[in-house]
Amino acid sequence: MMENGEKPRDHCIRCGECCLGSSPTLQMEDVPLVRDGFIEKGGLYSIRIGEPVRDNIENKLIITDREFIKVREKKEGNGCIYYDEEAKACRIYDHRPAQCVALACWDSSEFIRVYKRPKADRKAIIYDRVLMALMDEHGRKCSYSKLDGLARMIEKEGEKAVERILELLRFDHHIRTFTTKKLGIDSGETDFYFGRPVTQTITMFGLQVVREPDGSFFLTILDGNGT
Ligand code: SF4
Ligand code: SF4
Repeated sequence: MMENGEKPRDHCIRCGECCLGSSPTLQMEDVPLVRDGFIEKGGLYSIRIGEPVRDNIENKLIITDREFIKVREKKEGNGCIYYDEEAKACRIYDHRPAQCVALACWDSSEFIRVYKRPKADRKAIIYDRVLMALMDEHGRKCSYSKLDGLARMIEKEGEKAVERILELLRFDHHIRTFTTKKLGIDSGETDFYFGRPVTQTITMFGLQVVREPDGSFFLTILDGNGT
């Protein structure tokens, strides 16, 4: 019995709280869901090696040493994009990812068991050689280890380091435009192919990018107030 006299929960009442709280990471067994189109690539984004991320099990920020793929969260910050708040239901319930199937808020054991299994990565899903070559090139030129090193060099090397970061930002932007214009890839899918734009994630390295009216990038250092 709980303190208020209610019985502890032992089954899902479909309250939706878990879907409103966060979105799942894809496991290897979820790959067919993407290949068969039940989960759209536009509904996903990749986390690249070296990216700072929150570990939900440990509840702390870590630098990931492996790549993984997440279902997007709604812009307003209230959970998974596949959760229909009006209907109080998952829009892909019959084809939801393994972590969602395993999640039981009253008992985390099955979720942890699934979570520990191999995660999906982009190369498990993409077979297109041109796209894979572009992803590799992007990984070389825009790696998070490179960005981290350059961000740390700013104090010592000033403009020289800043120019190299701007170069990295320009390539990260260019490859997304190139992929949509030349290969006809939907612009909503580029966060899946190349991870989130570095103009967004760079704040985790203490930097901020302002886009000038002519389209060029201007780099500033974030202060304690986030400016
Ligand atoms: S698992 Fe728990 S939080 Fe999620 S919908 Fe079911 S009862 Fe609600
Ligand atoms: S995929 Fe469905 S079950 Fe999983 S978090 Fe999103 S809305 Fe919930």
